[in-house]
Amino acid sequence: MSGGTWQSRFDERIMRSIGMPLRKLERGDGARVWDDEGNEYLDFLAGIAVNALGHAHPVFVEAVTAQASKIAHVSNYFATEPAIELAERVTRLAGTTDGGRAWFGNSGAEANEAALKLARLNNSGGARTRVLALVDAFHGRTTGALALTGKPHMRQPFEPLIGGIEHIPATLEALEASIDDSVAALFVEPIQGEAGVVELPDGFLEKARELTTRHGALLIVDEIQTGAGRTGAWFAFQHAGITPDAITIAKGIGGGFPIGGLVTFGATSDLYQKGQHGSTFGGNPLATAVANAVLGEIERAGLVERAAVNGVALRERIEAIGSPLVTGVRGRGLLLGVALAEPVAVQVMHAALDAGLIVNAANDSTIRLAPPLIIGDAELDEFADRFGRALETVLAETSVASLS
Ligand SMILES: *Cc1c(COP(=O)(O)O)cnc(C)c1O
Repeated sequence: MSGGTWQSRFDERIMRSIGMPLRKLERGDGARVWDDEGNEYLDFLAGIAVNALGHAHPVFVEAVTAQASKIAHVSNYFATEPAIELAERVTRLAGTTDGGRAWFGNSGAEANEAALKLARLNNSGGARTRVLALVDAFHGRTTGALALTGKPHMRQPFEPLIGGIEHIPATLEALEASIDDSVAALFVEPIQGEAGVVELPDGFLEKARELTTRHGALLIVDEIQTGAGRTGAWFAFQHAGITPDAITIAKGIGGGFPIGGLVTFGATSDLYQKGQHGSTFGGNPLATAVANAVLGEIERAGLVERAAVNGVALRERIEAIGSPLVTGVRGRGLLLGVALAEPVAVQVMHAALDAGLIVNAANDSTIRLAPPLIIGDAELDEFADRFGRALETVLAETSVASLS
C-alpha cells in the first residue's frame, strides 16, 4: 500500500477506461452502505440492479460461505448439483420447462455473446445474414455485445465490429419494415435501462413476436437489468404475455456474485451442439449455488410481488415531493427513471450523495432508481426525504426560468 489519497492511487494505477468513482465504499447492510469516512448512504442503485437482496444479506453470506467451504470450481468436465438445480430453476421461472435449457457464464455481456452466437446458428443454411437490435440499446461492452449496442459513441472507437447488425427505431413501423426471412434474430430490452429507463411502445413485444415467428427469426429478450423480479414479474417479457425464443440474464440473478446466462425456449434449445460454446468459470458451483440461494430467497420472501407494490409506492413518493424539476416517472416496479425538466441529472446525483442517498444519472436529464428488492416503508420514507432535499438543493442552484 502506498501513500496518497485513494483518488490519487486510483488515478495512478486503475485503467482509465472508467472515470473517477464518487466515493470509496467499505461495507453495506441491507439497503445501506458506508464509505471510508463512515458516512452512511441509502442505496437506491444497488450496484445497478445487482444487489437484489441488498448488502450482506444472511442468505447470500451463508450461500457463499457454505459452497466455498465445500467445492468452488470443477471445470466443464464435471457436473455439480448447484448448476443443474439453477438450470431447472431459471427455466421454471422463465416458464420454459417445455424443452427449455440454460447456459451459464459470468456477466451480462458474456450472456449476450452466447445469444449472438445462437442467432448465427439460426442461419437457415446461410440465408439469414441480418441481426436486428434497437437504437439506443445497451447490451454490453465486449465486441459482440458492443456491436449489438445502439449507441454509436460507444461503438465508434472500436470499429470495425462484427458485421450484419442493424439498429432499428423502437416503433411498430420499423418492425414491419425490417423483419423478413433474412433476419436471424431481433434483440430487445423490455425496458431500456442504460438509455434512461425507456419503455417500449404499447404492443411492441407482441408485434415483434408475431413478425419474428412469421419469418423464422429468433426473438431474444435482454433481461439482464429487468430480470430477477425487478419489474414486478420474474422477467419483464412476462408482462406482455409473449414467449420469446431466448432471454439473457445476469445482474440481479447472483445478488452481487458474478453470473450471467442464456435461457432458451422450445426448439431454440436444440440449436447449440456439443463443443460450440463454453467458458472456464461459467456455471461453476460457487456462482450457481449463490444464484440458487438468491433466487430462492426472492421467491420465498415474495419479493417479486413486493417489487410491483413498492414500485407504485416509490412512484407516488416521487410525485408527492412535487418538485418542479420532476416532469414524470418512467419504468416499472423497482426500475424507475425520474425525468427532469433540465439537464441537471449529474447535479442531482451529487446533491443526493451529500444528502446520504445513492441514485444514478442515467443520462443528462434522467435519474435512474434501482433499489434492492428488500426495501420497505422505512426506506421509502427516507428516500423521499433525502431525494426531496437533493432536488431542492439543485433547484436553488439552477436558473430554471422555464420552471417559474
Ligand atoms: C448491464 C447490462 C448488460 C451488460 O452486463 P455486464 O454484466 O456489464 O456485461 C447488458 N444488457 C443490459 C440490458 C444491461 O443492463
